[in-house]
Amino acid sequence: MDVSRREFFETMRSGLLAAAATAALPRVAFASGSSPSESGYLLRYAPIRLHLKHAWTLSRGTSTYKDNVFVELECDGIVGLGEAAHNIRYGETLESTQQALEQARGILRRANPWQFVETQLEIRRTIEGQNAAKAALDMAVLDWVGKKLGLPLYQLWGLNPKKAPQTTYSIGIDSPEIIRQKVREAAPYPLLKVKMGGGNDEEILKAIRDVTDKPLRVDANEGWKTKEEAIRKIEWLARNGVEFVEQPMPAQMLEETAWLRERSPIPIIADESVHTAADIPKLAGAFDGVNIKVDKAGGLQEAYRAIWMAKSLGLKTMLGCMIASSLSITASAHLSPLVDYADLDGHLLIENDPYVGVEVREGWLILPERPGIGVIKRD
Ligand code: MG
Repeated sequence: MDVSRREFFETMRSGLLAAAATAALPRVAFASGSSPSESGYLLRYAPIRLHLKHAWTLSRGTSTYKDNVFVELECDGIVGLGEAAHNIRYGETLESTQQALEQARGILRRANPWQFVETQLEIRRTIEGQNAAKAALDMAVLDWVGKKLGLPLYQLWGLNPKKAPQTTYSIGIDSPEIIRQKVREAAPYPLLKVKMGGGNDEEILKAIRDVTDKPLRVDANEGWKTKEEAIRKIEWLARNGVEFVEQPMPAQMLEETAWLRERSPIPIIADESVHTAADIPKLAGAFDGVNIKVDKAGGLQEAYRAIWMAKSLGLKTMLGCMIASSLSITASAHLSPLVDYADLDGHLLIENDPYVGVEVREGWLILPERPGIGVIKRD
């Protein structure tokens, strides 16, 4: 290329760049997003007692109700909704959850609603632990953003709602008679997740197999205390149509779990061992997958990061939940097109769900198309 031609192209290039820099770009549809609210969010919250259809027993205890805290964040006449399902296993109580929400009040008041990443980071820097409270706030912030933009959350994340998986339906620990009754009630759900680790595992499996030959997934909730007991149970479960086992041993027994994984004929999934994305790399040798929960992670944003962390390490991903209403479950369900397995049935286990949101049809999660999380108050 001679000098004059090079000059010509250089001139053209710089001219085009200058033109691009000064061109008046068309206003985007969500122009309201460019003017941050001066006032930030007004926070309201209240506990609601959710009554369980059946007493809920895990290897660590029994309950007949769950007091979750429901959060509203209001700004510019739009109200974002969130739910905190505290878990005593992680040092959270109804009181500590409400204290954490109160601690966030000032941050929320100053927050720019469009800078939801900033808001989440500041809350995480300020409040120690209490991930259920943080999760409720993150849900409410994203619900607000979705409502303001008129988009359901799955669309904000660029996900295909038709890829939402089937959810399991959980059967808590119980007597054989009640287990058989629960399994009959679970007729509309093709996949069952069975709680074990309470000392009557054989009795439970027999009661289930009396009624159904559906595929099962088993959650021991850290209930098997030695690796010899755990491998014996896992081999027996594998022979009885169990697809995988969740958290067979206590969270801190990582070496023993790695020993199990080398011998197990079925995948082993972490639950109590994993909270946030940062927990996942050290689990890669001991587990085949991770059960990520918005409540444990401290929000939808961190759950999203945890899912991608797990995927990048070649781990299977599951989205799980606490006992919660359709609000929290629907929020999680918006992430479900990303994961291999869903266990999003907390709302199916309660009898006074205050909201309507995600539907479950033959186990399939059907996401609402309404903006944000997309739940509405039940009449
Ligand atoms: Mg679990």
